[in-house]
Amino acid sequence: MKPPYQEIGVVNTREAFKRAMEGGYAIPAYNFNNLEQLQAIIIGCVESKSAVILQVSKGAREYANQTLLRYMAMGAVKMAREMGSNIPITLHLDHGDSFELCKSCVEFGFSSVMIDGSHLPYEENIKLTKRVVEYAHQCDVSVEGELGVLAGIEEHVVAEKSNYTDPGQVQDFVGRTGVDSLAISIGTSHGAYKFKLKPGETVPPLRFDILKEIEKRLPGFPIVLHGASSVLQKYVAMINEYGGRIEGAAGVPEEQLREAAKSAVCKINIDTDGRMVVTAIVRKVLMENPKEFDPRKYLGPARKELIEVIKHKNADVLGSANRY
Ligand SMILES: [Zn+2]
Repeated sequence: MKPPYQEIGVVNTREAFKRAMEGGYAIPAYNFNNLEQLQAIIIGCVESKSAVILQVSKGAREYANQTLLRYMAMGAVKMAREMGSNIPITLHLDHGDSFELCKSCVEFGFSSVMIDGSHLPYEENIKLTKRVVEYAHQCDVSVEGELGVLAGIEEHVVAEKSNYTDPGQVQDFVGRTGVDSLAISIGTSHGAYKFKLKPGETVPPLRFDILKEIEKRLPGFPIVLHGASSVLQKYVAMINEYGGRIEGAAGVPEEQLREAAKSAVCKINIDTDGRMVVTAIVRKVLMENPKEFDPRKYLGPARKELIEVIKHKNADVLGSANRY
């Protein structure tokens, strides 16, 4: 079967992950659901010469409309090429929760899907993941599975407590499902409040011991980190200064992500940081210009700032800049 994604101009994750593994860096997966976010991701990644995974959640697909999204992604690829860039661009479903949703995304031109069965009993996770892999691989679409549960809230995904990935299960899971990459839980979490810190406390380090153990059991296999925003304090402060109330939000320190990117971690998901940047700038511009009512006048500056943050992430956190 000819992969439907070829029409969009996107690619699966195979080549980019291989290069990331060899080069000791990770590919950024940025979530989008509107025009300005998508423009910022493409411009930021083209200018920093980084491969990119455009990531769409189930909620984003409902928000933006699945048909419109398909053509937005197609337009994004065309725009990158018109800018003279050859960076690989992947269109990926984030947290697919059913076989039907994954199948629909494959048919709509996604080149990669995640099936998240991590909340299911182990054998059921394997069964569901394997079914998605068998279907997706017929269309040359990559599949990401997940073992271990991240704490926090992300769209339809809610978990109170994290459950670290058991390294003893990874070989069996990957072998029996045939997934192309594996999302693991080593202390990252979804949302803006990754850690509830009391005054004087610092963020607990990621469990690099678990990551090492997994790498040992799955040599050369692509690992994915979800919930890997750093919750940049500059933007938390800006939100609070301009009328918002995001108190005590904290994320994963960028140095730790840089460290993880050097390992078998090939994909790092960043959503919250982008949301924070847009909210901070929109709040600031509107507070400073109470007479403004042209959305371009506040979404434009938000887009501009987001481009800079993406370039910073690619260059200084993921190490994916200047690879293409
Ligand atoms: Zn996630």
